[in-house]
Parts: sequence; structure tokens; C-alpha cells
Amino acid sequence: MSKSNYRIQFRTGEILIDFEACRACKNYACIKADRLFGTSVLRLQDGKPVAAVNPDEFQRVCNECLGCEIYCQLFGNKGLTIKLNSIGLEEYREVV
Ligand code: SF4
Repeated sequence: MSKSNYRIQFRTGEILIDFEACRACKNYACIKADRLFGTSVLRLQDGKPVAAVNPDEFQRVCNECLGCEIYCQLFGNKGLTIKLNSIGLEEYREVV
């Protein structure tokens, strides 16, 4: 997993972005995916993808399509990952 230095919370998880990877990105695929599949909650600021709305609004507006991660990993510079809250996973692992 890449180093992350920017985090955005959404209802069921967190977006982690490594701005070092973004500096070498050629296409900002995360932003394109957000426009195609999401709700325009990301925007570019000084060549970096950041939240386009405040934290409360982000939680309300983000449709959790996960497109930003998929497009970043497939077409971008692999700077964005999503961490989902897996409720009960740790307890499950202790049993299995
Ligand atoms: S596609 Fe990935 S590497 Fe490129 S700007 Fe977006 S988050 Fe950064």
C-alpha cells in the first residue's frame, strides 16, 4: 500500500491519497471517475485531488461508487486507495 498523506472520510470508509504519487500523475483518473460515476466530491487544487466540499457535506454527498480508487489504480499513478470499515471482521478472524 502506498504512503498516504491526505485522508477523506466517507460514510463507510476512508480515502487515502499519496500526494507524492499524484505529482507524477499524467491524467488525474480519480477526478474523471468521480465525474463519470460519482457526485463530483473531488476537485483538483495545485495538481492534487482534494475534497470539493467540507467533511460533513462529503459524507452526505459521496455516493461511495469507489470509482476513484479503481480508476487511479488502473489508469492513474496508484496514489489513491480506499479503506472500508469491515464491521466484525476482526472478531470473525479470531473465530476462523
Ligand atoms: S489518479 Fe491517483 S495518482 Fe493520479 S491524481 Fe488521482 S489519486 Fe493521484
